[in-house]
Amino acid sequence: MKKESKQICLQSLDKLIALSKNRGFIFPGSEIYGGLANTWDYGPLGVELKNNIKREWWKYFVQQNRNSVGIDGGILMNPSVWVASGHVGGFSDPLMDCKACKTRHRADHLVGTDELSNAEMEAMIANKKINCPHCGKHDWTGIRQFNLMFKTNRGVVEDSTSTVYLRPETAQSQFVNFQNLQRVSRMKLPFGVGQIGKAFRNEITPGNFTFRTIEFDQMEYQYFCHAAESMDAYEMFKKRAMDYYVNRLGLDKDKLRFKDHGAALSHYAKAAVDAEFQFPFGFGEIGGTHHRGTYDLGNHMECSKKSMEYIDPTSNEKYIPTVIESSHGADRLVLAVLANAYDEEQITDDDTRIVLRIKPLIAPYKVAVLPLQKRGLTEKSEEIFDMLSQQFMTTYDDTASIGKRYRRQDEIGTPFCVTVDYETLEDNAVTIRDRDTMKQERVKISELVSYIAARII
Ligand code: ATP
Repeated sequence: MKKESKQICLQSLDKLIALSKNRGFIFPGSEIYGGLANTWDYGPLGVELKNNIKREWWKYFVQQNRNSVGIDGGILMNPSVWVASGHVGGFSDPLMDCKACKTRHRADHLVGTDELSNAEMEAMIANKKINCPHCGKHDWTGIRQFNLMFKTNRGVVEDSTSTVYLRPETAQSQFVNFQNLQRVSRMKLPFGVGQIGKAFRNEITPGNFTFRTIEFDQMEYQYFCHAAESMDAYEMFKKRAMDYYVNRLGLDKDKLRFKDHGAALSHYAKAAVDAEFQFPFGFGEIGGTHHRGTYDLGNHMECSKKSMEYIDPTSNEKYIPTVIESSHGADRLVLAVLANAYDEEQITDDDTRIVLRIKPLIAPYKVAVLPLQKRGLTEKSEEIFDMLSQQFMTTYDDTASIGKRYRRQDEIGTPFCVTVDYETLEDNAVTIRDRDTMKQERVKISELVSYIAARII
């Protein structure tokens, strides 16, 4: 692998945005109507990649742990949930408007830290004369807190009693269903519950492509345990997150780091870290491990007047479980995987190829079937496609020269190309080309499935 070239060629997101649109990973949302800020649609390749990222997460966090189950909660919940969770009162960003050009900005982004109070940020912006990044002028309003939850109305009358919120995080389904989940799974503590689903936030700042969107998929795992074992669990989930990023998604270890919440730690939390990936625009959060104490279940118990306690069947101890949360954004991970995989490889002085070195395990297509010529090879090639597509996401391409078709597959990260030629009709074998090494090998059709399966790791 030519790792050095990645750093050189991907200094901004521009190439990735263009490739994503041209090849069908990600399109701007509602583009024919001029778009809608911070919304995107996943095309044929994007949906495969995102599904694979989600599937691997589910396998790693839910399927492969004996004390794990899943849930698929509703996007709309009783508004009291969001009062108890603290989102109605406190889920807000500090915003300032530029009076000159009327653009709106996050004060914490302007000062470069989220560890200061509003008064401290206002003072710093004034003292350091931090200007509007859009027009360059220095004419700010004061800071106002802006709630990030999207509101909608249910029923026929639009008044405050009909207000419901689009969930800003998935985690609350696990909390409000704690007793149901414990009862039906018949699991003793500690146990965990995973969920993958949409969350919505009214983000006003520019998104850096899909990094910050108003609608996104979260993958959240809540681990319920006794306070005495909670710090060990917290450390375990930090490791688990890194393992998922590196060994399941193939992100480079040296582009990942933990950032401790430090002074920004929530009052109820015992410890918290963000996991950050080095994007072309700098380090950005892709996930987090949070020690949430008994805050969530405790608040729901108080507000709903329903018990959230657990009785240990051996010791008879009755307590509110402590929660360790492992939270990840599927869209930011798609972006990280693409940025990590993008490479421009210099093959000869006048030949460069673009190749997405996506880990085969999560690549959108695992294999492409390419008949060398259309004449006389279609039937055999379709037969091979039918066989492979039973097992793997497979694509078929019989247009343009074989060289161009290889390059097209390189650009979308397909790890293997199967070329069907006239000899195939005689020897029942095909040529397999490897995306990364470009090496070719002759393989019997009867061995193709196991050959590819052994390399999808
Ligand atoms: P940020 O500080 O970047 O706004 P956050 O700390 O508010 O993120 P969390 O509430 O911890 O994020 O959400 C968990 C995960 O959900 C994040 O690590 C991220 O991967 C994803 N996520 C959060 N907000 C967005 C968004 N607006 N667009 C895309 N993904 C998001």
